[in-house]
Amino acid sequence: SEELIRKAEKLSIVGQLSAGIAHEIRNPLTAIKGFVQLMRGHQSYNSTYLDIITEELIRIETIINELLTVSKPQLSTFVPARLEQILSEVIALVGAQALIGNIEITSRFDSELPLLSCDPNQIKQVYLNFFKNAMEAMPRGGTITLDAVGLESVPGCGVDRVKIRLTDQGHGIPKDQLDKLGEPFFTTKSSGTGLGLMVSFNIIHNHGGTIQIASEVGQGTVIDVTFPVLQGSQHTKRPLASY
Ligand code: ADP
Ligand code: MG
Repeated sequence: SEELIRKAEKLSIVGQLSAGIAHEIRNPLTAIKGFVQLMRGHQSYNSTYLDIITEELIRIETIINELLTVSKPQLSTFVPARLEQILSEVIALVGAQALIGNIEITSRFDSELPLLSCDPNQIKQVYLNFFKNAMEAMPRGGTITLDAVGLESVPGCGVDRVKIRLTDQGHGIPKDQLDKLGEPFFTTKSSGTGLGLMVSFNIIHNHGGTIQIASEVGQGTVIDVTFPVLQGSQHTKRPLASY
C-alpha cells in the first residue's frame, strides 16, 4: 500500500543519513576512549566517574554500530543462496545463548525450497535481530519455531516466493505498539537501541520482501517474511499424469 511505501522510503533516507553521521562519530569516539584509558593511570581522576564515562561511551558505540549496519543495504551483493543454509547458520550462532536462556529452537524447511537471490550476510543480520528480540522476550524460556515454505502466488504456476515464519512464546507486543515497530529508536528495553527492526525492515525491503507481525500479549509473536525466489530456480508442481 501507499502507506507502506512511504514508510519504506522514510526508512531508506533515515538509513543513509544515519550511516553518514555514524561514520563521522566513530573516529572522535575512539579518540575519547583512548584518553579515558590514559586518565585511569592518574590518581587525580575519580575512577567511578571514569567507569561511568566508559559505560556511556560503550553505549554510544553500540548505537553507532547498529546505525552503520543500516548503510549495508546500499552496498549489498546479491548472489544465489540457499535459505536453509543461511538460517541454519543463524540458529547455530544463537544456539549457546538459547541454551543458557532455556530456549529450544525448532526449524522446518520445505524439502524443495528454491534458491533466493540475496545478500546472505544481510539476511543473517535480519534473523539475528529477530532471534535476539524473541529470546529477550522470553526471560523464562520456551520454544522458538522457524518454518520456511514455498508459496505459489498463482496456484499451479510454480513457487515464486518463500515464506518464513518465526514464532516465539515471549511476552508479546501490545496493539498500540505494533505501528511503532521499525521506527528508529523505538524500544521498550532499558538498554535497547530501537534500531534492530529498522535495520531489518530496510534489508527486507531492499530484497523485495514483505513483512507482517502479529502478536498477542502474554502469548507470543509471529513474524512472517516473504522473499521472491531466484528466477528460474522454481519447481513447478506438475499435476500427475492420468492414464
Ligand atoms: P531493541 O531490541 O533494541 O529494543 P528492536 O528494533 O529490535 O530494538 O525492537 C524494538 C521493540 O520491539 C523492542 O524494544 C520490543 O518492545 C519490541 N519487540 C520486537 N520484537 C519482539 C518480540 N519478538 N517480542 C516482543 N517484543 C518485541
Ligand atoms: Mg532488538
